[in-house]
Amino acid sequence: MNRMAWYHWIVLSFSLVCLVRALDASAGDADPIYKACVEQCEKTGCVGRKCFQHCKFSSDGKPIDGPWYLQEPLYLQWKQWDCRSDCRYHCMISREEERQKLGDKPVKYHGKWAFQRVNGIQEPISVALSALNLAIQFHGWVSFFILIYYTLPLRPNKKTYYEFTGLWHIYGVLSMNSWFWSAVFHSRDVELTEKLYYSSAVALLGFTLILAILRAFNVRDEAARVMVAAPLIAFLTTHIMYLNFYNLDYGLNMKVCGAMGVAQLLIWTIWAGMTRHPSRWKLWVVVVGGGLAVLLEIFDFPPYQGFVDAHALWHASTIPLAYLWWCFVRDDAEFRTSSLLKKTK
Ligand SMILES: [Zn+2]
Repeated sequence: MNRMAWYHWIVLSFSLVCLVRALDASAGDADPIYKACVEQCEKTGCVGRKCFQHCKFSSDGKPIDGPWYLQEPLYLQWKQWDCRSDCRYHCMISREEERQKLGDKPVKYHGKWAFQRVNGIQEPISVALSALNLAIQFHGWVSFFILIYYTLPLRPNKKTYYEFTGLWHIYGVLSMNSWFWSAVFHSRDVELTEKLYYSSAVALLGFTLILAILRAFNVRDEAARVMVAAPLIAFLTTHIMYLNFYNLDYGLNMKVCGAMGVAQLLIWTIWAGMTRHPSRWKLWVVVVGGGLAVLLEIFDFPPYQGFVDAHALWHASTIPLAYLWWCFVRDDAEFRTSSLLKKTK
């Protein structure tokens, strides 16, 4: 395929993701039978014959059992979260069983498929893969740190020659933060962990867009960097606040993330096509691999045997991509440093 065809393909893929996501933005939790089940369960603490101890509230909302020191507001909140999460889970499983008997296709609940829990962990595969991603990001960041401060020469003022050091540090911290919350969210899906996962993912994606613009256009001037970053940071802050304090709208969030994803993929693609960068093939692999990984989100299939779904595979695909990505970052640091040193000589 020629380059233009690639661009079209990538844009098409991303717009398909948005469309699919918008259409079935959690059909499951809009289902009246599921809704009634959760409502009933939060009152009685039972789904069918299964009852949950977390749901034992007296009529005035105080827990009935437990020692006095645990009957604090915070504990009460935890209990309510646990109760809601148990109710949602068991209502979802029983609803999915009913649907299966009727020959209906699986649907999503609160943005996720119905997974089987293992030892109270909702999506063990995704948790393990998130932890691996976190480890890879940590490894990449540490090796970048060592390269830049110990292997490569420093300026007389002890600063690095490479102009994008600070930005990659922020990227490292944001991506590790987001994989951490991803692991937490996939093990326990409550409102707080969900918001933290979505917020940190949006922050990361937004920052990588800023990074793409600054690196691809080689923006080194402080004032110009602020001009690029400020409006994007303002937008990201607004979007994150909207999700957290107003409405956690999956459809809207997917559109925002999709748009930011397309933008940076296009920027890297065009840059990789034009630059004479010695490691541009790594960039190419990451861009094409990232585009292919998007396919997983398009053919967002329900979990196989209740465990491995498209989202889990997507987390798996980011592991080699992240490794290669940090590899590219290190090459970039070396390349920029050596060309700057050549200039000064
Ligand atoms: Zn995830």
